Amino acid sequence: MLHEIDDMQVISECRDDIACGENEEEDKFKEECGVFGIFMNNPDEEYDAANTAFYGLYALQHRGQESAGIAVSDGHKIQLHKGMGLVTQVIKTPQLKELKGNIAIGHVRYSTTGGSSLVNTQPLVFHYLNGMVGLAHNGNLVNTVELRKRLATYGSVFQTTTDTEVVANLLARYSQDVMEDALAKCMIDMKGAFALVIMTEDRLVGVRDQMGIRPLCLGSLNGSYVLASESSALDTVGARFVRDVNPGEIVVIDKDGVRSQQVINSPRKAHCIFEYIYFARPDSTLDGINVYQARREMGRQLARECDIEADMVISVPDSGTAAALGYAEEAGLPFEEGLMKNRYVGRTFIQPTQKIRELGVRLKLNAVEEVVGGKRVIMVDDSIVRGTTSKKIVQMLREAGATEVHMAVASPPTKYPCYYGIDTSRREELIASTMAQGEIEKFIEADSLHYISMEGMFNALKTGEQNFCAACFSGSYPIKIDV
Ligand code: SF4
Repeated sequence: MLHEIDDMQVISECRDDIACGENEEEDKFKEECGVFGIFMNNPDEEYDAANTAFYGLYALQHRGQESAGIAVSDGHKIQLHKGMGLVTQVIKTPQLKELKGNIAIGHVRYSTTGGSSLVNTQPLVFHYLNGMVGLAHNGNLVNTVELRKRLATYGSVFQTTTDTEVVANLLARYSQDVMEDALAKCMIDMKGAFALVIMTEDRLVGVRDQMGIRPLCLGSLNGSYVLASESSALDTVGARFVRDVNPGEIVVIDKDGVRSQQVINSPRKAHCIFEYIYFARPDSTLDGINVYQARREMGRQLARECDIEADMVISVPDSGTAAALGYAEEAGLPFEEGLMKNRYVGRTFIQPTQKIRELGVRLKLNAVEEVVGGKRVIMVDDSIVRGTTSKKIVQMLREAGATEVHMAVASPPTKYPCYYGIDTSRREELIASTMAQGEIEKFIEADSLHYISMEGMFNALKTGEQNFCAACFSGSYPIKIDV
């Protein structure tokens, strides 16, 4: 059953009892969120705004598996359905049928700020002076505490612990202005990373922080307009990529079309480099760079920087595959599928027993004895975070008969946490922040360990270091962090 929103209430009928994300051994940085929005000029029964948002979110599922939600406007009111779980677990046909309207926004979430619970799911929908607003946010503000305090002195109350609610309150604070002007004021106040899709009863708005840390792009679909975290979501719903939303820009879409306001012109851009390394889908193009090509080029560059005698290159699927192909190409070695991934392993939400937990990485990956047996193997992965998974995979390859296992990593050592919307573990959990390369090599029990250099990584991306945030490697944060 759907719910109409009477006040700033979080509405959902979905499960709040599932312990999300505790059942798998994850040894990767985790993207926080994916956002999607559509303004449809001519919705039809078969394929309306809610359905399009559903498939858009489905394409963005890799960006967040803990909760999902869709809000839809029919021009008079906004309806919302959201809950804990994967898109297909939360939003089913009966809900889609009830979500009637021509404007929709959607959100998938992996929690960082605010923790994992129903009350923190998105979109947020609330009433303000000029009507109703729906809000979906990808990123993380770094001045939430200060803004929360300031808003509280004006009488704001908060029912969630997310920075998205801070944005909502900020917007309400400027409600005497028209939406675009209120948002422009919010953008000046908000420090940090944000890609927002916002809806009122009659318009869809996209906003990106002044350095463009988190991605957001605009597409068109038979006279309608779409906003999405990644271009692959546009492809999935049949939309044509128009352009990226510029850092510091507000894009407004209504019945008159698209208009833009460049609120802040920052000379410094800081696109998250980890999107190209791991987070984004390889078939996405973000800020002019195709993710697959970038990963393949990083693999080539890595091969140029390494000098390893081996029989074959394998990848840790899937995120290491494009780099492994590039590596093999450059090194003149065969690329083989030495590790197979169980393609049906996702977040199952089944509480594992200790015995199952111990199986760990084996639930996901299996070494192919017939491929790696008796061979010297170069194993390419996109990154090492805590090193525990790498260690198990090296072990697995040796048990399958590999005579040597060399690990080549298509990103530099990850030493620093992210404050811009990525769950990176605490600094002391990042193996490269506490161990030197030789110690990590010993820890994971590889015959050798190699990382791409910072310079090599930037060269592979070809657009200049000044356009990226690479703080998790360098510790140089483009937006000041008070820690
Ligand atoms: S610190 Fe790392 S993960 Fe965070 S935005 Fe910067 S590059 Fe991306």
